[in-house]
Amino acid sequence: MPKALPDLYDCLKCPSYCCTYPRIPITKRDVRRLAKHFGIAEEEADEKFTKRGWTSRERVIRHQKDEVFGSACRFLDLKTRLCTVHAVRPSVCRGHPEGPTCGYYVFLTSERRDQEDPAFVARAYNLPGEFPQLEEG
Ligand code: SF4
Ligand code: SF4
Repeated sequence: MPKALPDLYDCLKCPSYCCTYPRIPITKRDVRRLAKHFGIAEEEADEKFTKRGWTSRERVIRHQKDEVFGSACRFLDLKTRLCTVHAVRPSVCRGHPEGPTCGYYVFLTSERRDQEDPAFVARAYNLPGEFPQLEEG
């Protein structure tokens, strides 16, 4: 049986760029899990943690301001760059990046090599106003 390819990225060496995507879709099941985790009603969790997404039916995770990338998922710890709800994170986060490579990590490691700085953070800023329907709040 062929061996699976090793993962070519290391999330623990990354500032969690994927947690800053403007559109992080979240399902009702995800909201239920988060509500249970925080001991609050589903309706409250929906209001507190999600907002309207690309379509009227889609819900996405609310953001917070982030000095590194402009804005980031409200559940990202901005200092450690780790997920504060890792055990109960939404299904879309569990599946990411859906393969052995991560485009941002390739970019990041290339820049760290070029800059000769293993801690360099390659920015990819989400411009305010770019996705008005997904802005904070
Ligand atoms: S951007 Fe890639 S390497 Fe960074 S946390 Fe996300 S999946 Fe991991
Ligand atoms: S819930 Fe956690 S893993 Fe998912 S985007 Fe937010 S911080 Fe990242």
